[in-house]
Amino acid sequence: MKEKQRLSRLRFNFGHLLEGGLGARRDVELDYPDIEISEDVNLSPLKGKFRATRTSRGIYLNGKLESTIEAECTRCLDTVTLPIEIQIDDLYYHPAHTAPPGEFVINEDGILDLAPLIRELSLLAIPMQVYCRDACKGICVQCGKNLNEGECDCVFDDIDPRLAALRVLLEDQDES
Ligand SMILES: [Zn+2]
Ligand SMILES: [Zn+2]
Repeated sequence: MKEKQRLSRLRFNFGHLLEGGLGARRDVELDYPDIEISEDVNLSPLKGKFRATRTSRGIYLNGKLESTIEAECTRCLDTVTLPIEIQIDDLYYHPAHTAPPGEFVINEDGILDLAPLIRELSLLAIPMQVYCRDACKGICVQCGKNLNEGECDCVFDDIDPRLAALRVLLEDQDES
């Protein structure tokens, strides 16, 4: 039951559009301060507009939403709040059996649940590399400390073995 309640805020009844002629449309404005899209995606806020248009193949949605989403810094794993743009440009096929595999459909009841699409587009809007700041120092590979919060006490003998050999040679020279 919890699932249903959670998704209900992004369910729209486009039944009258399905019954309407080609080109019938409806503009929808969203303005949620905070909305849970799925277990793993929470958007706050979610704002914007989209247009639903009846086409010969179903209902075509087109519009732009804005939000922020939480992601993990690639280097230090801190939570980063990212502004994202969600570009909607999708056809919901109707009748459902005409849809190619994997495409969204709108059933006879005219109910369209936007949550799966918004979830997908939100996750796609997160870049491959996310940084909490330009000069993020990351975490220590040895102790795991977030180096943005200060140095750790690890001592690294991080000199390349070939360079270490060179250093020995140089030290020998100094002694002679
Ligand atoms: Zn970071
Ligand atoms: Zn360390």
